[in-house]
Amino acid sequence: MIQKFLTQIYEYVTYFISPPSCLYCHADLSVRTAFCHSCMIQILPIVPFDFYIGKHTVMKVFAVSSYKDPLRSLILAKHHSNETAIHFLAHFMATSPVVQQLDFDVITFIPLHWTRYASRGFNQAQMIAQALAYTSGRPVIPFIKRCKKTQFQARLTLQQREHNVQNAFALDAQYSHQIVGKKILIVDDLFTTGSTMKAVCSLLLPCQPQKIEIFVGCRVINS
Ligand SMILES: [Zn+2]
Repeated sequence: MIQKFLTQIYEYVTYFISPPSCLYCHADLSVRTAFCHSCMIQILPIVPFDFYIGKHTVMKVFAVSSYKDPLRSLILAKHHSNETAIHFLAHFMATSPVVQQLDFDVITFIPLHWTRYASRGFNQAQMIAQALAYTSGRPVIPFIKRCKKTQFQARLTLQQREHNVQNAFALDAQYSHQIVGKKILIVDDLFTTGSTMKAVCSLLLPCQPQKIEIFVGCRVINS
């Protein structure tokens, strides 16, 4: 009761200090959400994608949207250390209807190298995982750790990307016994060529999870 009252006061005060506006087109909003109605209706659902690792292992990649604005603008906000935008992205993904299609016991995320974490101040994939844990009631387990700092994948060709992430990740030995028999969901903000996911899945698969699914905010669709 008191908490609800305090929340209302907080919302009332912040409304006047910083009136809510659409994070993409900056139109005024009556309630604090990520996007206005006109931007919201531009986010169209896309079908899950079958991602092959080798010839026979396939994983479904679920995405809220293709890599288009307005959702793309939230993903790009990480490069400006805009934690508020990433908070909205995480909440948006965790409450998306796509979540109903997912089948998972535990959530894990793509880690950042500690130097990038230190300069950015947050890991967007971890924030998405935590938001999804809150709405789904499933735990987040950091199965993967990053042991090598890599270049930004966006600047590289497919071959360079695969080379770039080679040996960049390792299993965290203190959690690896919890992989066997589990339905694992890997979350990240963006799925481009899948080089990073391939590297991470190749570490998880030998520990015999029941299955792995991937959930991202945006997936780049090659035309
Ligand atoms: Zn808008």
